[in-house]
Amino acid sequence: MRLDDFRLVQERYSVSTQVSSNPVWERTAPVADTYPALEGKGRAEVVVIGGGFCGLSAALHLAEAGRTVVLLDSHEPGWGASGRNGGHVIPGLKLDPDRLSKHYGAETGELLTDATGRAPDLVFDIIDRYSIQCSPRRTGWIQLAAGPNGLRLIEDRVRQMQTRSIDVEILDRNAVIESTGAEGYVGGMIDRRGGNINPLAYARGLARALTSHKATIYGRSRALSIKQIKGKWVVETESGQMTSTRLVLCTNAYTDNCWPRLAKTIVPFVTGAVATEPLPQSLRESILPGGQAAADNCRLLSWFGLDPEGRLIFGGRTGTWSESTNEYQWCGKVALTADHLPHAHKLASNLYTGLGFNGMGVAMSTLMGKFLAQLVNEDSEGAVFPLSPLKTLPLHGYLMPVVKTVVLWRKFLDRFYP
Ligand SMILES: Cc1cc2nc3c(=O)[nH]c(=O)nc-3n(C[C@H](O)[C@H](O)[C@H](O)COP(=O)(O)OP(=O)(O)OC[C@H]3O[C@@H](n4cnc5c(N)ncnc54)[C@H](O)[C@@H]3O)c2cc1C
Repeated sequence: MRLDDFRLVQERYSVSTQVSSNPVWERTAPVADTYPALEGKGRAEVVVIGGGFCGLSAALHLAEAGRTVVLLDSHEPGWGASGRNGGHVIPGLKLDPDRLSKHYGAETGELLTDATGRAPDLVFDIIDRYSIQCSPRRTGWIQLAAGPNGLRLIEDRVRQMQTRSIDVEILDRNAVIESTGAEGYVGGMIDRRGGNINPLAYARGLARALTSHKATIYGRSRALSIKQIKGKWVVETESGQMTSTRLVLCTNAYTDNCWPRLAKTIVPFVTGAVATEPLPQSLRESILPGGQAAADNCRLLSWFGLDPEGRLIFGGRTGTWSESTNEYQWCGKVALTADHLPHAHKLASNLYTGLGFNGMGVAMSTLMGKFLAQLVNEDSEGAVFPLSPLKTLPLHGYLMPVVKTVVLWRKFLDRFYP
């Protein structure tokens, strides 16, 4: 498989807000449990809105702590990005350790580097504890460089991590070919803390784990409005109403208008993926023989992996796969932030949210969910993400033309200055 093949794939993408959906993960994920729509009035200690990894993890950690929890999703658990992603369990954040320390100050920066680097532990621990059948592989995560600029960034990242005794290693060009089967990349790194999973199966497993506690999930229950009445939170859906003391909002890139200004703090960015037919055994053996998943660090990145049936799954950038006749092709939305970091906010008394995983949310949204549960429980031990005030992006309503221009510019840079 050559880098140019990816580029050919990328040529066919077009910026689009159309979200088609036939994720390959449906093939091997357990059938979804049925979650009825909320009908009539109900009460809970905590209501969680959004049934992706973040909401499911928040609800699960709250339920484990003995809270009565209700989770509402406008579709069903895993319907959003959580059931549509590449399944790469990526340690850490977009920013390297030194930049995190510069951004937040040394103490918070180092804490974040450590805690987010260990986020895959949380994912694989939950999978183990609840025996979630999601084809987990803790084999590491590979990042690749398409040219000298990308390689410099990776070398710098590895140096910063090794200084902190993190188990990462540089891969030279030959090691990249050997460990991925991909020709054309100039080098890369392996981060042994990472891994990969079937993300839809993980989401459905989290939902099942949640209902094994004192928790109820309602599907097809979009939160239409949130109001505080006499010190309680009241969430209205089309056919019901939930009242709770505490509320957690986990809607990430699918955030709508149910809380003022929140949607304007992120850019919802459409990104796509496609899966091939199962590859012949001989080819399968040469692609990612160690069972890792891989992504490059181009400005418009591409990622790939093999599923347990030997299908090559790859994706990246924006839009729908316009010309492909592949059975499995899909899109989803990631939430981008101006500083490339996830944000946690206290929106009001007893109302928290976390969002903005910048396309690296499998491990991070699970960790954020745990953190939000800690906030609700007023448990500050090991608290990870700093709380920040809501900051809306300027001219948010006019961002689409800007995003399209940035995409073109990045494409140019990737082509000529990789
Ligand atoms: C194609 C693609 C590939 C990706 N690949 C990777 C990868 O390999 N590794 C990685 O780490 N990250 C990846 N990501 C990012 C990752 O999937 C997300 O960061 C993560 O799933 C976010 O989880 P979440 O729970 O915050 O949001 P989501 O999973 O998007 O969940 C939000 C939920 O909120 C619900 N909702 C929204 N509004 C309401 C409302 N008003 N009422 C009720 N419910 C509501 C939606 O129905 C949805 O289910 C990828 C994303 C995409 C789209």
